[in-house]
Amino acid sequence: MKIHFLGAADGVTGSRHLVESAGSRILLDCGMFQGWKLHRERNWSLPEALRELDAVVISHAHLDHSGWLPALVRHGYKGPVYASPATCALARVLLLDSAHLQEEDARRANRHGYSRHAKALPLYTRADAERALALMKPLPPGREILLGRHKLALSRAGHLLGACSVSLSEPGREGLRLVFSGDLGRQHDLLMPPPQPAPAADVMIVESTYGNRLHPEADPAPLLADIVKRTVQRGGSVLLPAFAVGRAQALLLLLQRLRRSGAIAAEIPIFLDSPMAQAATALYRGQGRLLRVPARELRGLCDGVRMVETAQQSMRLAAARFPAIIISASGMATGGRVLHHLKAMAPEHRHSIVLAGFQVGGSRGARLLAGERELRIHGEMVPVRAEVSRLEGLSGHADRGELLAWLGALHPAPRATFVVHGEPDAADALRGAIQQQLGWAVRVPQHGEAAEV
Ligand SMILES: [Zn+2]
Repeated sequence: MKIHFLGAADGVTGSRHLVESAGSRILLDCGMFQGWKLHRERNWSLPEALRELDAVVISHAHLDHSGWLPALVRHGYKGPVYASPATCALARVLLLDSAHLQEEDARRANRHGYSRHAKALPLYTRADAERALALMKPLPPGREILLGRHKLALSRAGHLLGACSVSLSEPGREGLRLVFSGDLGRQHDLLMPPPQPAPAADVMIVESTYGNRLHPEADPAPLLADIVKRTVQRGGSVLLPAFAVGRAQALLLLLQRLRRSGAIAAEIPIFLDSPMAQAATALYRGQGRLLRVPARELRGLCDGVRMVETAQQSMRLAAARFPAIIISASGMATGGRVLHHLKAMAPEHRHSIVLAGFQVGGSRGARLLAGERELRIHGEMVPVRAEVSRLEGLSGHADRGELLAWLGALHPAPRATFVVHGEPDAADALRGAIQQQLGWAVRVPQHGEAAEV
């Protein structure tokens, strides 16, 4: 078996692992690179190793795991794409939105002439995304199918609606069983049940987003309540840049609980300003059996929440003077409607910007958290004077302890373990912990490396 690490091997984005074995070439995840320009530029070329593929398996719908699929299809891929049914449904929402953003960015760059190319082209179009979605084949977790001579199965990973770990077994007594963790969720998540135990593995590919830290025990609810109260007291509004899928729903749940308990005033309007978050919220509400949210709370998730539908309404909201809570995407402020709000709110002291998710190095979210006093938005420099906070405790990722516990339950130990999907310090910290605490053979692969096992 040969594994090519073609993404998420020196960072958290662009997850792509090509498995070559028993005559098949199977791509695990087809993620988009985000964050650093150096990484984003990888989105524009087709790695040689991805020219001939038999199948693609997507662990979950987040764009850093699924977002390059339309580009792969644009490069000519026509084979099957397996994912859980909920991932297929969420991918429709995410990929079409991503294609729309790609087209918008290209149009804007051409209009303002700030592309370094003569004519900016989108990475892919809505038509490419539709073609990619047509290739998706829902595979319910727990069911086993044959893929060439391999058996493929998914198991639930928590983390996000539909998220799964992938296991791929080679045929025969000597055959290797490979497990790819995908992104692993937490034991105590607001929305998702904990991950299923790791399937038996000879070769393990494990994520390490939080491989170097433990999540604080702190409850995010009182912190958010305090931020809302002091912001409204100074006549400002609270902007919550949020991943449209997962994080936006967790924030709604949290805000509804704070409203019900009286911790924040019911009169402060809450706006959900992201068509994608609205679509994802509808999907979450229809998949209650996959969540750990009580049915009554799920029904009331959007009570009193104002849905901002058109771009014009969004612009009007950005110009409004009354205190409000605005949830808008994207979660790292890399694109989408949140940019108009950020442009309007960042220069004013009275407002608050609350970052409630992981911020990839190089993204505007990461720059805000690093205390940068100026941000480039739509080719313009915008001063940052608003209060900027990080809201912890909402992470959808297992922390170091949870990752080690998930791995440590495996007996016997895998023969080879590869640590991926982490910033270099996180990946290396998890590698060290696996080596010391579990005594396993483990390493962090290099981007572009092909490992023989
Ligand atoms: Zn994810």
